Amino acid sequence: MVTKYDTVIGLEIHVALQTESKFICGCSTEFGAPPNSHCCPICLGLPGALPVLNEKAVEYAIKTGMALNCEINRFSKFDRKNYFYPDMPTAYQITQDAFPICSKGYLEYYYEDKLIKTSLNRIHLECEAGKLIHSGDSIIDSDFSLVDYNRAGIALIEIVTEPDMSAPKQARTFLEQLRLLLNYIGVSDTKMEEGSLRCDANISLKPRGSTVLGPKVELKNLNSFRSLERGLEYEEQRQTEVLEQGGEIRQETRTWNERTGKTASMRSKGDAPDYRFFPEPDLPPLNIDESRVEAISLSIPELPLERLHRLESEYGLSRYESTFLTNYPEFGGLFFELIGKKLQSGAVVNFLMGDYARLAREKGHLTASRIGELLEILKEGLINNNQGKDVLEELYKSEQSPREIVKEKGWEMVSDASELEGVIARILSENPELVSRYENGEDKLFGFFVGQVMRATRGKGDPEVVNSLLRKELGQ
Ligand code: ADP
Ligand code: ZN
Ligand code: MG
Repeated sequence: MVTKYDTVIGLEIHVALQTESKFICGCSTEFGAPPNSHCCPICLGLPGALPVLNEKAVEYAIKTGMALNCEINRFSKFDRKNYFYPDMPTAYQITQDAFPICSKGYLEYYYEDKLIKTSLNRIHLECEAGKLIHSGDSIIDSDFSLVDYNRAGIALIEIVTEPDMSAPKQARTFLEQLRLLLNYIGVSDTKMEEGSLRCDANISLKPRGSTVLGPKVELKNLNSFRSLERGLEYEEQRQTEVLEQGGEIRQETRTWNERTGKTASMRSKGDAPDYRFFPEPDLPPLNIDESRVEAISLSIPELPLERLHRLESEYGLSRYESTFLTNYPEFGGLFFELIGKKLQSGAVVNFLMGDYARLAREKGHLTASRIGELLEILKEGLINNNQGKDVLEELYKSEQSPREIVKEKGWEMVSDASELEGVIARILSENPELVSRYENGEDKLFGFFVGQVMRATRGKGDPEVVNSLLRKELGQ
């Protein structure tokens, strides 16, 4: 969209940490358990119950901060954010206000073929709320609402970016790459559909080139990458129209409606709740020492961008291929296993990105050893590429190895010259007219002869041998 305005976007991302127990008590974090079966006096906020901090959650927050180039604060502390709503049994959320565990940082990623950085403002730890199920569309128009406190008290991190993204698609790419990084470091399962990754998006417009930010609109209820992008696109358009008609943008919170494809006002700035933060008296501040940070840094694996660059530089793969293997870590894992079997990187990546990619998505992955054997017999020339496709389909139907399948089905490639010469001689003698047309310069008939030979051998002819024998027979 070409307008007189620059779009400015900043995201706030909530990530449920993959700890076995909750942030402040020993209750299980298992997803999908019967309602209110993972609750105790602490996460229900019963009087007198005292929280105990989950050490793993602190470790995961630090690990995330390090993977995102943040400063890990030696001192951080917890606060209560007061709000009264039935999803929060304590009527306050334990969070970190002025002293978060991580500050600054950035994520570096490719967007439209350019390597760019999005700056982060902070990462802080907090408690998850419970879940409400309304009888109507929202709490206001419901006769009743059901409440499930299984999620209440689960450890979250909130990652807050600076307002430095400039397009809805960029925001989507950023979130996809952030999610990938969180998967690589293993701190969260990041399932948007289960709510373990959630994103609120802030968007404003400013006159092109201006350094002063415009009033922001915060978008809620963005439940997928697609709705993040669509919601921002809608809002970008809406704000542009308001400004072009001489109107003003009000700072407000709006909710995205997936069904109508529109955003609607939820509350204006004046209605924003005053959370009246105050220090959490029941949890001590965190003092993180250097050795702790160093120990955690050793647990950080290769990150997506490092892997992408390594695939390019060490294995000579294209940007496109490296991105595929990086973004789909199961494919990347298979790639590295297969390379370890002395298979050539180009052949391996072509295989993984070809028919296999479709089959694996539909039916799941094959083991590296079965794939490896298939690639081996292709390389040896036991079968040709056509037969390779048939063997691949067969691997999904039987437990047999590629060699066993080829043997049982009699699919070995025919490379034997005398056998092929016989077939070729027969086909040429059956088509004298076509042979003379070919000899008179109709070159494209060569492909027809190749096709006939392959048909006669039921796809098993060695293409190279067939080609060279045909050329010889046809007098070239
Ligand atoms: P608040 O005071 O409302 O909490 P913050 O400055 O803490 O606002 O920012 C919250 C989020 O909104 C951050 O992700 C930030 O990047 C984003 N943001 C702040 N100002 C703007 C703006 N003018 N336009 C777009 N996003 C913004
Ligand atoms: Zn509990
Ligand atoms: Mg803020």
